[in-house]
Amino acid sequence: MISVPLVDLKAQYAAIKFEIDSAIQRVLDNTGFILGPEVANFEAVFAAYVGAKGAVGMASGTAALQLALLACDVGPGDEVITSAHTFIATAEAISWCGARPVFVDIDPRTFNLDPNKVEDALTSRTKAIVPVHLYGQSADMAPLLELARRKGLWVIEDAAQAHGAEYQGHRCGTLGHLACFSFYPGKNLGAYGDAGAVTGNDMALLARIRRLRDHGRTGKYIHDEIGFGERLDALQAAVLSTKISHLESWTEQRRAHAREYNELLADCDVVTPAEQPGNRHVYHLYVIRTLRRDELLKHLTDRRIGAGIHYPTPLHRQPAYLKLGYGNINLPNTEQAAKDVLSLPIYPEMTLAQVNHVAKTVREFFKV
Ligand SMILES: *Cc1c(COP(=O)(O)O)cnc(C)c1O
Repeated sequence: MISVPLVDLKAQYAAIKFEIDSAIQRVLDNTGFILGPEVANFEAVFAAYVGAKGAVGMASGTAALQLALLACDVGPGDEVITSAHTFIATAEAISWCGARPVFVDIDPRTFNLDPNKVEDALTSRTKAIVPVHLYGQSADMAPLLELARRKGLWVIEDAAQAHGAEYQGHRCGTLGHLACFSFYPGKNLGAYGDAGAVTGNDMALLARIRRLRDHGRTGKYIHDEIGFGERLDALQAAVLSTKISHLESWTEQRRAHAREYNELLADCDVVTPAEQPGNRHVYHLYVIRTLRRDELLKHLTDRRIGAGIHYPTPLHRQPAYLKLGYGNINLPNTEQAAKDVLSLPIYPEMTLAQVNHVAKTVREFFKV
């Protein structure tokens, strides 16, 4: 039986082994492991890729989110609007700044924040909005940005799943005041360990994040404010600088696999992803919806197909947030999504035969 994993990092490494091994060897030969030219070079290349004025390399996507919020002076007494249908890091970063995440329901077509509901959730304490570009598709940014401008709010994109995604011709990472990326190994641009970045066009904000990530330093032993040890390291920067030259072709391969799945699953009783007009979806995940999700997951798992659920428990139902009194919130679209989403395998190196095999196995389940 053919087995198809949810992601296959080995296939990617095999395709670029020589380039990666030489990049790592270069860092070892230079023994410059912290910041330095490798990190500065990656920051410049990544900022150019996104189309932002600057980028700051971070130790993880979570650190990127937390320090971006802190740089906007988000803190105790503030509320920050975000989605509960996301990875917990989005909300953790808000909580660790001392602010309160306010979860707003999603648009069921895109799984991203519903701008109309965001407006209803604003209070005098609202300080920022953190839209997540979930699964690789941009949130509906125009109404969110308009609202933020009107109310004087910060907009910090969680672009951890959206490397190269576009909204009305602009890349995610340039839309809000700041944007946060993760280079966790399985992300569309993945390091060989933890890594992340903040991008933006406001050089003063980026300079503050640059200080915060490195112990608030303005000189070797001069610390201007209480900071963190959340730097991107040189080995990860070298890996990322190598991999970013392949990112566009990898993204096109993901998009081709998604188009193939869309066609092959058209007559199944599932909802396939809805790329909105004006968006470029980068398919970090290919997520379908079905009321028979758990049965289909078992059908696929039994046949050695690596399907997954992103995410099975909305954040306001997580023990960590239940303890903070989030039990009574009502987010019907979020709760429905947690029950019916299913991620099918997608990664650039997937073969057409593998896409066909996964689709055939899904079709077999629905007897079409
Ligand atoms: C991966 C991810 C993060 C966290 O990134 P790390 O690099 O793992 O810290 C944050 N938000 C979303 C939506 C993610 O997918």
